[in-house]
Amino acid sequence: MTPDDFLRRLAAVRTHKRRDERAPHKPLLLLLALGRVARRQERLVPYEEVEPLLRELMQSFGSPKSAVRPQYPFRWLRTDQLWDVPRFRELSRNASGDFYVWQLRELGIEGGLPEDAYDVLRADTGLLWQAVGEILREHFPESLHREIRDAAGIPEDGIAWEADVEEALPTPAVRERESGPPTFYSFLTRRRRRDPLFRKRVLDAYEERCSVCDLDIRLGERLLGVEAAHIQWHSHGGPDQVANGLALCLLHHKALDRGALGLEERKGTGFNVLISRDVRGERTGSLVDFSGRRIRPPRTRAMALGEKFVGWHRREVFRGQPSTPT
Ligand SMILES: [Zn+2]
Repeated sequence: MTPDDFLRRLAAVRTHKRRDERAPHKPLLLLLALGRVARRQERLVPYEEVEPLLRELMQSFGSPKSAVRPQYPFRWLRTDQLWDVPRFRELSRNASGDFYVWQLRELGIEGGLPEDAYDVLRADTGLLWQAVGEILREHFPESLHREIRDAAGIPEDGIAWEADVEEALPTPAVRERESGPPTFYSFLTRRRRRDPLFRKRVLDAYEERCSVCDLDIRLGERLLGVEAAHIQWHSHGGPDQVANGLALCLLHHKALDRGALGLEERKGTGFNVLISRDVRGERTGSLVDFSGRRIRPPRTRAMALGEKFVGWHRREVFRGQPSTPT
């Protein structure tokens, strides 16, 4: 297997992301597997060992719509040729083709990357980091990358790809020369460029303050901790338009992307803040005190948030109705 073969398989997994709907379960299992390679751990891991880790990742970063069932990606990533369950034939499957969790546990069933994929990743650290970066960018907003990497046990070394993707990655041209004819860079070329003016336009629309809490700290002239957030994630088709952006402080940006904070339209007069019932802690005021409050409207009506982007966020990200663990 060449690095390109591996990237081609990785690109094919993506087709399971339907239009703008989130489907992050397989990517999360892949990140766990890549973390094992990065830490030089063995290829195979018992289901019982991977289950709690995957469950936690799915609960924290999965789609709020779908139930948390770690056995699904453990079963179905296999069809993408990116997962191997050597004792597959010993397992019974139900009518939908799913494994039975009790059996996975009782028989001590192991899974892991297929041998060819594991070997090519072990031999090519650049490929490993590239794969991690591709998965993160395809499925999650940048504000969550570090957190997800930590949760998946992926060490820091891959930091380069986070700063500026286009420059930090080995360029397609280099790899193409290495491996012959023009190859599949579908996901590198397909990646949508970001509009460099998005940040400026959004901050300007909201007068450089957090639209939830009004924070507007500066150090000298430069803003400190106020960012332009996408409502519908850029990775999921969200455009770089002011109608899809909000100026938010670091906390409220993170809360938006994790689904702790959501928005709901109030009849004709802008949007209210929603706070997930799952928020916990003793000093949660910086978040829960804003529940039901109106967000700061933009300077002009033409800059108003688009309801369809808010709707996407409420459907795909906001943890209004937590999924029940199995
Ligand atoms: Zn704020």
